[in-house]
Amino acid sequence: MYDTIIIGGGPAGLTAGLYTSRARLKSLLIEKGFPGGQVMTTEWVENYPGFDEGVSGAELSRKMEKQATRFGLEITQGSVIDISIDDNIKKITLEDNNEYETKTIILATGSNPRLLKIEGEDTYRGRGVSYCATCDGAFFKDEQLAVIGGGDSAVEEGLFLTRFAETVYIIHRRDRLRATKILQERAFANPKIKLVWDSVPEKIAGDDSGVQSLHIKNVKTGEQSRLDIRGVFIYAGYNPNTGFLKGLVSLNENNYIITGENMSTSTPGIFAAGDVREKSLKQIATAVGDGATAGVAAEKYIEENF
Ligand SMILES: Cc1cc2nc3c(=O)[nH]c(=O)nc-3n(C[C@H](O)[C@H](O)[C@H](O)COP(=O)(O)OP(=O)(O)OC[C@H]3O[C@@H](n4cnc5c(N)ncnc54)[C@H](O)[C@@H]3O)c2cc1C
Repeated sequence: MYDTIIIGGGPAGLTAGLYTSRARLKSLLIEKGFPGGQVMTTEWVENYPGFDEGVSGAELSRKMEKQATRFGLEITQGSVIDISIDDNIKKITLEDNNEYETKTIILATGSNPRLLKIEGEDTYRGRGVSYCATCDGAFFKDEQLAVIGGGDSAVEEGLFLTRFAETVYIIHRRDRLRATKILQERAFANPKIKLVWDSVPEKIAGDDSGVQSLHIKNVKTGEQSRLDIRGVFIYAGYNPNTGFLKGLVSLNENNYIITGENMSTSTPGIFAAGDVREKSLKQIATAVGDGATAGVAAEKYIEENF
């Protein structure tokens, strides 16, 4: 029987594990891929405090894992497919049929950007293809960039990118934006933003130094054209990893977990941290804050209920 089981080994889960194991709770972290989560797939991180020159995603992941396991956090590889509750004891089932029992659970399964699934997207991921302007915008000073999408995130991030870039093309499949009016007004008024209507991306091309161009097609005329750009920011939405919860905790309309201030979910003894929960900023700095809060809340819950 564990005191706490953390599902997901990104920054939120590893920080939760650091706090719970340091508080001497018997803690297990279950990760289906590699500890580090999305950070592991990030080339370079410049906005996480404590690393004045920046740090590679792989190095930051390694350090977080090492720090958490130093205090006794156990980590196992596996994919959680089911959770059930009997008399306040939670049972977790993995894909390989292994089962674990625990007093508390911290859900830290993150979310994944929806991919465009076009040629070049995988090849140039981290070398010009990005899903996060806050993370990568500063790498593109005075460059030509493209943003794919027409919703709030696309326009907001496009506006943010104009701080660095010379030109930001917003490529949208329709002839009007879905974003809120105020964002639209700002985009139309910004001389660095060029809207490309009725168009979809077809291919991202480049060379050893990264992305060089984006091939697009006008969906009304069928006309194909090429934009010479150095970065493509994709805002096709995110999928939170909450499918395996099957109604266990309350989710919002976009399937993110709704939490209280101490990261509690609608189910007592189950907490959520990081990108998987409904919140305004999804970054490493906020994920680790959530993880710390959830870890301490789990400790308090055990004191009061077991
Ligand atoms: C390309 C890219 C670049 C980024 N760059 C930056 C940056 O420079 N700075 C910054 O602050 N933020 C950056 N971010 C955002 C940052 O990576 C995330 O905000 C952060 O990783 C969220 O942490 P998390 O622990 O909540 O989730 P994640 O990092 O997504 O980790 C969740 C983990 O849960 C695991 N998991 C999911 N489902 C299950 C399951 N059923 N069973 C077991 N394990 C499961 C996943 O395998 C994953 O490892 C970037 C994101 C991307 C995609």
